[in-house]
Amino acid sequence: MLLDDWINESTKRVLLVEPNFPIPNKSRNHSNFLPIGLLKIAGYLRTKDIEVKLIRYEHTDTMQTTLDVNFQKGEIEFIPDLICVTSIFTYWSSYVKDAVLHFKRKFKDTPIIVGGIYASLLPEHCKEYTHCDGVITGIVDCAEKVTPAYDLVDVNYQILHTTRGCIRQCGFCGVYTIEPEWLCKKSIKDEIIKKRLIFYDNNLFANPYIENILEELIELKKNRKISYIESQSGFDGRLLIKKPHLAKMIKEAGFKNPKIAWDHELTDASFIKKQLDILIDAGFKPSEISVFMIYDYELDYNEMEEKRAKCFEWGVQIADCRYRPLDATFDNYNPRKRKQTNKDYWINPNWTDAEVRLFRRNVRRHNICIRYGVDFHSAKLERKQIPQEKAREYRSMSYDEVKYLLDDIWTPKEAHLVEKDNMFPQSN
Ligand code: SF4
Repeated sequence: MLLDDWINESTKRVLLVEPNFPIPNKSRNHSNFLPIGLLKIAGYLRTKDIEVKLIRYEHTDTMQTTLDVNFQKGEIEFIPDLICVTSIFTYWSSYVKDAVLHFKRKFKDTPIIVGGIYASLLPEHCKEYTHCDGVITGIVDCAEKVTPAYDLVDVNYQILHTTRGCIRQCGFCGVYTIEPEWLCKKSIKDEIIKKRLIFYDNNLFANPYIENILEELIELKKNRKISYIESQSGFDGRLLIKKPHLAKMIKEAGFKNPKIAWDHELTDASFIKKQLDILIDAGFKPSEISVFMIYDYELDYNEMEEKRAKCFEWGVQIADCRYRPLDATFDNYNPRKRKQTNKDYWINPNWTDAEVRLFRRNVRRHNICIRYGVDFHSAKLERKQIPQEKAREYRSMSYDEVKYLLDDIWTPKEAHLVEKDNMFPQSN
């Protein structure tokens, strides 16, 4: 069913709910997590004179919601005629269920519908598991052309799409299910209402009108109408090689922190280096570039670690993404625990829990070293467990100079390989 099928003349108030996903509070308004779908729906409903209320990230089982508090204060009386709940990753399905059950108890006669990524990838599971009344899959077309209701959140940026869908079908990605149609815009300049822009395109460079869009952005930047741009997804390296002039255009338009992906084998290193060189020639510093790497997937720990060391040689950061199957309905990976198994989270057959943790840790230390322009990491130095004077001295030294002076020294220059079977027995 479509959103419009749930709306009629008697729909006067709609409650929009972002479940209590396990996102750190400081990241709630980060562009990666903004419930942009709900903001678009809010904008759309307002065009129909429907009152909307957005509830975000409150613990629905044990705490009161904003509505409860407002009821107690006697400020409003908001009995919704429809409740729309958003969803993100399939493995956060339990948070969606909690939200649906909570609002079902609270508003017994109000239909509750769920949309978003989990709802689109696993609609039957979503309907049965969450006990919602309806599932909306894919893009909510009617809300696509409306300006999102940014007044419902406190952000200084806006989110834009120049395309929907993707021209590729990577095995670990659900875009072709969620957005099966490849749609492209020729122009976006009339949509711009803020100075900071975040592009949510899955594959911005694949837009056949990308040059036109970048020219618009360059013009807006010259006229100081925009000041910051970032693309949430990586730039398609294969397209970058075909159209290297795009690198100069994104630099001129003011894009920050460009990312490319290195999904495949170590043998692709020279191809990846070529892509990085195009970005560097366009004026980006290596340290501001990140390489997306999916791990706990097809390549084993040792190959991933060799890829990581290559990235250090090139001076770039890594954006690591732990793989979860597209139909995973839970993920209880806990970075603070020492040992977990496949019962807790997805561990690929060619990985162990210890390797997953080690790789994550290596990437973290790698990125710190890139950001600080050093070639070693020491947890004691990071935690300020070394007297200040000594720490200052160590920090001015290279790995080769300091390696015998600190007992927890680690360098990103080397690939820290493991001997399979011995050091890291499979824990599941
Ligand atoms: S290029 Fe990116 S968005 Fe497109 S299918 Fe691959 S991972 Fe998904």
